Amino acid sequence: MAAFGSVFMPEMAISWFDGSEWSPTEIVSSDSIQLHPGAHVLHYASTCFEGLKAFRHEDGSIKIFRMDRNLARFAQSSELLALPAIDQQATGQMIVDIVRRFASEVPAPPGSMYIRPTHFGTEPAIGKAAAPSLTSCQYVLLSPVGDYFAGGDKALRLLVDDEGMRCAPHNGMIKSGGNYASALRPIMKARAEVQADQVLFCPNGDVQETGAANFLLIDGDELITKALDESFLHGVTRDSILTLARDLGLKVSERELSVDELLDRAGKPGCEAALSGTAAVLAPVGTLIYHGREYQVGNGGIGETTVKLRQALNDIQWGKAEDRHGWLTSI
Ligand SMILES: *Cc1c(COP(=O)(O)O)cnc(C)c1O
Repeated sequence: MAAFGSVFMPEMAISWFDGSEWSPTEIVSSDSIQLHPGAHVLHYASTCFEGLKAFRHEDGSIKIFRMDRNLARFAQSSELLALPAIDQQATGQMIVDIVRRFASEVPAPPGSMYIRPTHFGTEPAIGKAAAPSLTSCQYVLLSPVGDYFAGGDKALRLLVDDEGMRCAPHNGMIKSGGNYASALRPIMKARAEVQADQVLFCPNGDVQETGAANFLLIDGDELITKALDESFLHGVTRDSILTLARDLGLKVSERELSVDELLDRAGKPGCEAALSGTAAVLAPVGTLIYHGREYQVGNGGIGETTVKLRQALNDIQWGKAEDRHGWLTSI
């Protein structure tokens, strides 16, 4: 099985901003794009992206999950990076057009078609270290993906890091390339030194998120996760899971969670922790590693509520439960 995100559809939708308007969308080969070596993005990281999925339902129809939310975040990321404004409706049409073109390639559940809109500054201007790119490009790339848990649904090990940070705090809510480069070294170190799967960034002892997923703690009938602020990425999966948790009668607490409280609660029987994101929906966390000590979360395995919430979300995505919140877009 190919690694997640390493197989692409042969064509993509693309549009260029010339400083005054967006070009009509074209469908082009996804093998390469041509850029000036001085392009703003290559020097000053003026780039953002999105990640969402299209699903095949049993009746053969194809549905995109929460496209409006991803478009709004894409527009916000573009704005916060001082990139040219995107037209959410036009970008939505690019997404629908390209998914429609490859509708027959959308894998059946538990697979899906991962959709990767990308926007970046193209102006050839290496003097613009402190000025925005006036021109840009956006494209929508498709990557069919299989079962995320094909290798087994194993509870993850997280290194709890209360010293470093994932990215500059004012950039946390931007889905921008530079933030991932910034988090890479601590993650590689944690993998090598304590065999952690991910780093849970907790700047100043405040539990935030990992390199590419939000963190949720479930203690009995209470779900605790950090309240939205500009320091971390506002996951669409996070929002969906919180909504479904409320539907299931859980108490949802969006508030600060300290490392002390986390470690205190984690060991209690029935406690669960999970990472949320588009790729996995919810991935269980079994172990927290802090200052050289290992703390088991609950029974160290996969939590019951985690499985229930993941199933509830999958059921909507896969057309097995009613789409009560209007999250699916037909193509
Ligand atoms: C994409 C991402 C998430 C998860 O967002 P979803 O919309 O749920 O996929 C969380 N944290 C970071 C840093 C991310 O890049």
